[in-house]
Amino acid sequence: MSKSPGDKNIERLFILVERLIGEDARKVFEVMYEEGDEIAEHEIIERSGLKGSSVRRALNILAEKGFVTYRKVKHPDKGRIIFYWRINYEGLPSVIRARRVATLEKLKALLEAESETQYYICPLDGTRYTFDEALDHEFNCPRCGSMLVPDEDRELRLQILRQYVRMLEADTRGNGARSS
Ligand SMILES: [Zn+2]
Repeated sequence: MSKSPGDKNIERLFILVERLIGEDARKVFEVMYEEGDEIAEHEIIERSGLKGSSVRRALNILAEKGFVTYRKVKHPDKGRIIFYWRINYEGLPSVIRARRVATLEKLKALLEAESETQYYICPLDGTRYTFDEALDHEFNCPRCGSMLVPDEDRELRLQILRQYVRMLEADTRGNGARSS
């Protein structure tokens, strides 16, 4: 089985799972990755050292988001249902792409808001205000009373944001957007 998409990539995937769902989900996902193949739910519980309820909650969210899939098997003697889980390797690229597209949209909105508004900052504590807010306070910082000044770092922030957007756009395009 292909178990090495690169340590760095898998670490990024673990981090994504943790940010998106939480620490338990990361632990569960790591156990599944180490197994490399299908794994029974009780095995995951045992190896992760987490509570059964925490593992089940994590698995459900992971499945909902497309990170994992499962297969139900009826136990031959006891008649109860056993869940076998595996990482959804085939679906992961599109899960990650969708995530990237969502981030891209958020960044674009941020960029738009940022380019439209002139901000004023307090040189002492660094708090930031829109023109209207600054006007409301007669250009004095509501926290410390210092005179607010136009935010000069704005151009730099805009540049960084634009660069991020370009990078993500290139990423989203270049990652299997075409299927033939
Ligand atoms: Zn201030």
